[in-house]
Amino acid sequence: MYDVIIIGAGVIGCATARELSKYELKIKVLEKCSDVCEGTSKANSAIVHAGFDAKAGSLKAKLNVEGNRLMEGLAKELDFSFMRNGSLVLCFDENEREQLTKLLKNGISNGVEELKIIDKPELKTLEPNVSDKAIGALYAPSGGIVCPFNLTIALAENACINGVEFQFNSEVICIERLSSNGDGYYCLNTDNECFHAKLVVNAAGVYADRIHNMVSEHKMLLIPRKGEYCLLDKSVGGYVKSTLFQMPDKLGKGVLVTPTVHGNLLIGPTAEDIEDKEQITTTAPGLKKIAEKACKSAQALPLNKIITSFAGLRAHAEKDDFIIEEISDAPGFIDLAGIESPGLTSAPAIAKLAADLVLARIGAGQKFNFIPNRTGIKNFASLTRKEQKEMIKTNKAYANVVCRCELVTEGEILEAIHRPLGATTLDGIKRRTRAGSGRCQAGFCLPKTMEILARELKLDVKDITKSGGKSNIIL
Ligand SMILES: Cc1cc2nc3c(=O)[nH]c(=O)nc-3n(C[C@H](O)[C@H](O)[C@H](O)COP(=O)(O)OP(=O)(O)OC[C@H]3O[C@@H](n4cnc5c(N)ncnc54)[C@H](O)[C@@H]3O)c2cc1C
Repeated sequence: MYDVIIIGAGVIGCATARELSKYELKIKVLEKCSDVCEGTSKANSAIVHAGFDAKAGSLKAKLNVEGNRLMEGLAKELDFSFMRNGSLVLCFDENEREQLTKLLKNGISNGVEELKIIDKPELKTLEPNVSDKAIGALYAPSGGIVCPFNLTIALAENACINGVEFQFNSEVICIERLSSNGDGYYCLNTDNECFHAKLVVNAAGVYADRIHNMVSEHKMLLIPRKGEYCLLDKSVGGYVKSTLFQMPDKLGKGVLVTPTVHGNLLIGPTAEDIEDKEQITTTAPGLKKIAEKACKSAQALPLNKIITSFAGLRAHAEKDDFIIEEISDAPGFIDLAGIESPGLTSAPAIAKLAADLVLARIGAGQKFNFIPNRTGIKNFASLTRKEQKEMIKTNKAYANVVCRCELVTEGEILEAIHRPLGATTLDGIKRRTRAGSGRCQAGFCLPKTMEILARELKLDVKDITKSGGKSNIIL
């Protein structure tokens, strides 16, 4: 019998697991994929939003601003990349000025600090490559960027060393409420196992409605809202320093142009409501739309430097706000649903709210031996010569560069495989070390990484997959 089972190992499930691991609780995370961060948390804009656009008084507004405040401390504790690069909402004509003022007022009432409207000369000084057509902007210095993989993996690793069990390749397909001696509990069934838990946290992303509907008569509907992106090469990563937004519309925050924490440039996303919760292909019209819209924000955008494209699905709830509550007709079953943007930003704050709901149900003392810190994999290429020599002395694998685009060594790949919740797939290696995420998109390092994975996991190279399941590379 677990005290708490969390369904889903995206940023929300992992943040909640980490927060709850501070208490004397027996916790398990069930994840249908083969690794953490395989859902929406892997494909988004990676912006730590300032919080000026969420409707005042909504959960999105409150948790966005709180999450933004918490992110910096969390990045220090858990050693993941985070930068406060500031964000700008561009205004292109006099008619938009009124909207800009509305956003400013909304941001102030949400508690966003240091927000201000800047004029064209100040905008040009901040961002020389911004479009000449922009006549001003709302400037939010507290806006930031983060690595969504590192954030999610860091939260999961830290939860794991603090006692949370993670079980992958385990899709929850049916849930029953049972009782023993008058105490209710839940039985969660996967294909071949059954787990019992006093409390359940539903952090299943776009599937949170299906999980909710397994236990409640009050049905929920989440609409997958697809967003497509293009990622540009590091040679143009410095094209803009801040995140450039356009005026938000009813489908979201619009197309942005932003640097990433790894030094690339990202443009996107589109916003299109679809039905299929697995449909994350990019489309020619979608990519064309992004290119056109992004070119409105930045001058002469170097679109010839695009190295890849991808798409993610927002879990859009009809009431357009996060749903964070115990289900009224399912005692002890807590929904963390409808977590679309700014969900990544809000994750640390959502986790605290989820922990409060759990602790209100099940009294648990704080763990005296909770380990708050975690150290990430050292990026060999960013070390000094002296430090690199020291690393090579400890392990010669650091002298073997596997991914030439991102300069990732075999030593880092070995660390990714052998740390808590280590990588077992090519995507797992990519997200932990960046091997394969550079200009050649793994064209060169793929076979080498496969060999290392096969050797270390004692598998046949044919069994190595891109991302688990049937995603084998060699057929
Ligand atoms: C296009 C786009 C842009 C965005 N940009 C930003 C941004 O810039 N800033 C920001 O703050 N937010 C942004 N977001 C929102 C943010 O990415 C999400 O809010 C966040 O990643 C949601 O995390 P999650 O853990 O709820 O979902 P997920 O990451 O999808 O995790 C849910 C997990 O549950 C698992 N699961 C599902 N069903 C089951 C089951 N039956 N059994 C077991 N496991 C199951 C899935 O496999 C998945 O791993 C964006 C989202 C999109 C799509």
